[in-house]
Amino acid sequence: MPLKKFKCRLCNSEKLDFFLMENNYKLYRCSFCKVVSIYPQPTKIELEKFNKNKYNSLQNKKAYFSAKNKLYERARLDDGFIKKFKPRGILLDVGCSYGFYLDVFGKSGFQVQGIELAPIAIKYARNKLRLNILKGDVMTYKFSKRYDIITLYEIIEHIPSPNALFKRIKKLSKSNALLVIQTPNINSVYFKLTGNKWFWLLVPQHINLFSVQSLKILLKNHGFQILFTRTWDDYDEFVKNILFVLRLKDKGKSKILYFLGYKLLWLFSPLSSLWSKFGYGGELTLFAQKIN
Ligand SMILES: [Zn+2]
Repeated sequence: MPLKKFKCRLCNSEKLDFFLMENNYKLYRCSFCKVVSIYPQPTKIELEKFNKNKYNSLQNKKAYFSAKNKLYERARLDDGFIKKFKPRGILLDVGCSYGFYLDVFGKSGFQVQGIELAPIAIKYARNKLRLNILKGDVMTYKFSKRYDIITLYEIIEHIPSPNALFKRIKKLSKSNALLVIQTPNINSVYFKLTGNKWFWLLVPQHINLFSVQSLKILLKNHGFQILFTRTWDDYDEFVKNILFVLRLKDKGKSKILYFLGYKLLWLFSPLSSLWSKFGYGGELTLFAQKIN
């Protein structure tokens, strides 16, 4: 069932094929760049209903802090990659949340700044981590400088117009700047096995879901050259998502089955490393350089 009157938000192609339906929103996949997007676009009011309360809530803070060690570990890994391409400079983290990534990048020698909307997260990053955080929206904030490195962790899937975002990012980048993007991978084994129950489908907060192919097209169109891409799984979370699909819970009657299932699925973890090598991991991280 092709979709008429809409064009792909990434590449303007008119060939959009029905992909799935979730939360009463319809998702279509572009047959050219393979991005999967919600059509028609959710309204501002609909999005605010989901986003505003969520990202400024204590519940979200709790979830974030329970993943703190994991996030610090990921930041240290990326810090190593960033250093290979850009050993020093001023770094902007867009949608920096509680500032965990910035904390790592700052301590490793970069001059760091973040921009964030949620007051609860800004307060923590400023007061506890002593970070330099701008309060506002990257699309409208009046920046006074340009950056050597810009990082976008779990941001682009939330932005209605990826092209408008990348125009903005390009303006904020110095020549040869490094761009780091991390986003859920729709072209992943993780998604294929969990489908509508994928933890990262998150419709309608996630408006556009990308694959390596769609990001390659998007970046090329905006004058960025890809240096390095990797896909990977948070395998513990992957296993929990599979158990969720199987309706097993870690309490009550299914507790034992859950435990056995958890142990059993871990035996397959080497497969995750394998499919991730071929671009099918659940998350994708991409490093690109501004070339013109
Ligand atoms: Zn497209």
